[in-house]
Amino acid sequence: MSEARPKMKVLKGIPAAAGIAIGKGLFLNRALPRSVQSTVGREKVEEEVAAFQRAIARSKEQIRAIRDGVVGSSSEHHQILSVHLALLEDSMLIDQTTRTIRENQFAADWAFNNVLQNLLETFHRIEDPYLRERGHDLRQIGHRVLENLAGRPMDSVAGIKEPVIVVTHDLSPADTAQFLKSPVLGFATDVGSRTSHTAITARSLAIPAVVGLERVTDEYGAAGTVIVDGEEGVVVLDPTDETIREYSEKQKAYGQRTRDLARFARLPTVTRDGKTLSLLANIEFPEEADVAMRSGASGVGLYRTEFLFLNRKDLPSEDEHFETYRRVAEKFVQNPVTFRTFDLGGDKFASQLELADEMNPAMGLRAIRFCLREKDIFKTQMRAIMRASTFGKIRMMFPMISGVAELRAAMTMVEEARTELRRKRVPFDKEMPIGIMVEIPSAAVVSDLLARETDFFSIGTNDLIQYALAIDRINEHVSYLYEPLHPAILRLIRRTVESGHDAGIPVSMCGEMAGEPLYAYLLLGLGLDELSMNATAIPRIKRILRKSMAYEAKEFAGTLLTHATAGDIGRILRKKAEDLFPDERL
Ligand code: PEP
Ligand code: MG
Repeated sequence: MSEARPKMKVLKGIPAAAGIAIGKGLFLNRALPRSVQSTVGREKVEEEVAAFQRAIARSKEQIRAIRDGVVGSSSEHHQILSVHLALLEDSMLIDQTTRTIRENQFAADWAFNNVLQNLLETFHRIEDPYLRERGHDLRQIGHRVLENLAGRPMDSVAGIKEPVIVVTHDLSPADTAQFLKSPVLGFATDVGSRTSHTAITARSLAIPAVVGLERVTDEYGAAGTVIVDGEEGVVVLDPTDETIREYSEKQKAYGQRTRDLARFARLPTVTRDGKTLSLLANIEFPEEADVAMRSGASGVGLYRTEFLFLNRKDLPSEDEHFETYRRVAEKFVQNPVTFRTFDLGGDKFASQLELADEMNPAMGLRAIRFCLREKDIFKTQMRAIMRASTFGKIRMMFPMISGVAELRAAMTMVEEARTELRRKRVPFDKEMPIGIMVEIPSAAVVSDLLARETDFFSIGTNDLIQYALAIDRINEHVSYLYEPLHPAILRLIRRTVESGHDAGIPVSMCGEMAGEPLYAYLLLGLGLDELSMNATAIPRIKRILRKSMAYEAKEFAGTLLTHATAGDIGRILRKKAEDLFPDERL
């Protein structure tokens, strides 16, 4: 008689790092140890203070040892572990604990726990996800200090000797750093978000991971086999044989796909007849820079700087902007990084600025219009971008330019910002290219006039389609009319490319259309010089372009534009692409 198998459980979380792992589960205890209220006699107070200081010193030693072990192999890890060390030096944490021990005669662990909980409470109330993450960091080092105070060794990742899937409440960067040297196949955690350190390091180590599962440690029990699907954000506990077979197939397919694509990341984007294009990445956070580089991006074509406003009420300072921009610029060294000035307002972060409600926010006071009105906000950002321009190959571009007058108004602000920097003797690169997004139909129509006064164009199809076809890009009821292949859109793109080339400036595309495999051949034919997209799309687009002939694509695009409807154009394009690239998933 066969033993009853535990029932299979399927949990949904946040996909943190792609790939599929199947293996034996291992539970790692990472819940914050409990400490009970306890006081000590007055004569013991200094002993408690000394014990606390030893625990801090020991924790620092441990983290330093782990950090030193990963030097060179991943600077991201190094930085995160340095943040942990800095938190252990934080005077608030140390001084307040010491004071609490002395003033209340609390035992060291109880005093520390009190201070820690208060700080965690403060972090918990912060809306900004990045700062809230620092709360996680604090919890993780808190755990380590408490274990050291109790003289208990922590469950160590370093002790893992066989291939396992780690199931745990949370992982610290110290844990994930040790994954480098351990046979961990994947992991699943209760907490965490896509921007959490755990998720970032998982991606940089390419270990399949799902975070934010909320109850995986409760549900885990003592599950035998665990499946982690880091693409879909699914974790299966105690899978049936059939489910294991199904995921093994998925795992093989994924492995094959990544092996095939990885070869393309490093290759140049050159068509069979020798035309070179640049494929760049669109990013929102500095942390995405590493993934972008690994995906073969030759720079950043669109950095959406308004994400600096994510969930915060105050304005970032010039130094804060500068540090962020410099960090990204230095990562890419000689490759261009294109900072788009704030595209605030409309559907984007309007609440942070307490803007008045608008009847028609997409057509309201947003992007460059907002910046030309809020001159201080605009100039603060521009000065920061200019300051960062001496640290890399930086470009700046303005969103939502509708015509020449607006471009000139923005350039006047540029001059003012430059004068302010000169007055303070702050160095900047005077040659930094300054371009515009072409995402309002009027800009495409007068692109010949705009091209004379700017250094480059970047076509933003997401908005260009919205405004040209009068389709609200976030309204699902009209999304069926959102057609990138509408002849009007293709004509606007063609016109913009021609205007740019006639004036001798490069033309890029950074809307979502640029990263769609089906459109790659057409965009090559339309003559775009650069395509900027979600980094993970780069290898696929590169592979398609490397199989293409630019002169044939140009001819094909010419005839395609003679057709009258998006439907016809779509059918012809699909047929062509399927014939040319039978192995691609279009
Ligand atoms: C666009 O409009 O195409 C674009 C790239 O900008 P965003 O999506 O940020 O509006
Ligand atoms: Mg836009």
